[in-house]
Amino acid sequence: MALHEVDGDRRNAPDDLYALNGTGSALPRYRIPDGPMPARAAVRLVQDELALDGNSRQNLATFCTTWSEPEVRTIMADTLDKNLVDKDEYPQTAELESRCVHILADLWNAPDGSRAVGCSTTGSSEAAMLSGLALQRRWRARRRAAGKSLDRPNLVCGPVQVCWEKFGRYFDVELRQIPLLKDSLTLRPEQLADYCDENTIAVVTTLGVTFTGDYEPVAAAARTLDALQADTGLDIPLHVDAASGGFVAPFLQPDLVWDFRLERVKSINASGHKFGLAPLGVGWAIWRDAEELPDELVFHVDYLGGDMPTFALNFSRPGGEVVAQYYNLLRLGRDGYAAVQRACAQAAGRLADAVAELGPFTVLHDGKSALPVVCWTLAEPPAPDGWTLYDLSERLRMRGWQVPTYPLPADRQDVVVQRVVVRHGVTRDLVELLLSDIRTALAELERQHVGVAEQSPGFHH
Ligand SMILES: *Cc1c(COP(=O)(O)O)cnc(C)c1O
Repeated sequence: MALHEVDGDRRNAPDDLYALNGTGSALPRYRIPDGPMPARAAVRLVQDELALDGNSRQNLATFCTTWSEPEVRTIMADTLDKNLVDKDEYPQTAELESRCVHILADLWNAPDGSRAVGCSTTGSSEAAMLSGLALQRRWRARRRAAGKSLDRPNLVCGPVQVCWEKFGRYFDVELRQIPLLKDSLTLRPEQLADYCDENTIAVVTTLGVTFTGDYEPVAAAARTLDALQADTGLDIPLHVDAASGGFVAPFLQPDLVWDFRLERVKSINASGHKFGLAPLGVGWAIWRDAEELPDELVFHVDYLGGDMPTFALNFSRPGGEVVAQYYNLLRLGRDGYAAVQRACAQAAGRLADAVAELGPFTVLHDGKSALPVVCWTLAEPPAPDGWTLYDLSERLRMRGWQVPTYPLPADRQDVVVQRVVVRHGVTRDLVELLLSDIRTALAELERQHVGVAEQSPGFHH
């Protein structure tokens, strides 16, 4: 065993933070302390609290950025005092946001000469609210013009992220979520017609379904809606929730047609802070043409000087994430993003193959196509006293890994899955370490549950 020498000098050093005034006794946590304390002491206390959080690099549940270059930290520090809404005071920050909008409209193939518009948001959730609002107002305008009722608008979608449920509830739009068919992980275009009617403000398809990482068939959905229009006259717009896929598909599946190349796709959202590689707090919403964004939603605020139109739920917002997004686009370029996402897909593929070989699992999504996300289930339902995926999650947690276990959405709630998001920083090496811990955990679970089985009914003392 290593022998550790106690450094008496260090222990007694006068700048020992724990000896500073204010840290020798318990502090009030839920009311403001009476007086100040030294900054170094306060920061140490806060850091101690944070030490009890999970380690973000081992958080395999999140899609969000957990690894950044030191340069990104520099940018975040440089922009700590920049309010994105102060377009007139910080015109260059506004310019960088505008460049990002141009870059994304181009990356998502807005037609040449189009009047695409877009904005940054706090994430895909705000982008979804804004896109949903634009669709709702467009529908209202069409209904009003036709002299028809404005009651009960609805939004049709597959298994969406919770932000669309929020949109529905906050803005009074019925969410018609199409249940999954038994053999499918995404909505099927042939299901759409039964759910759409004259009150449908849009269909939302997801490029990178949260639950599994699979892409929904956007082009096929567009064709189905084209056919529906030809049959019934209903002209239903398509929105793509590309929270993750918007920064993956253009680099890994450039030939997949899911974006503004499809005439029916009117708007797209993505999370800059997921596969966009920006730090937490930025998303994007882009409309194929300015006419898709009703004027009544755009605000012109003149009391800050200038008159830059805005579309946002917040007023003040930090500028750093947007600047860091621009930095990443500039720094990596198309090839750099492709290299990062390819490395993720390769690591995901390795994880999927190895998990499949372990025996007890069936891989539902192997991360080699669509998002670099691996999703598996138990090949056979667990015996009544056998171990479950929830038990496996718990054992992995002992080694710091956070691998979520949850049921698939309706109508496949009977399938419980486990999911690993392979994003920038989840390296091939980290995947090997995870696999080694999965093997150890499985051996331990088998051992424990063999013990349980031996004591099962029939065994009497
Ligand atoms: C993460 C996610 C969202 C929500 O995005 P935030 O950036 O976390 O607000 C919406 N849709 C999908 C498909 C997502 O993966």
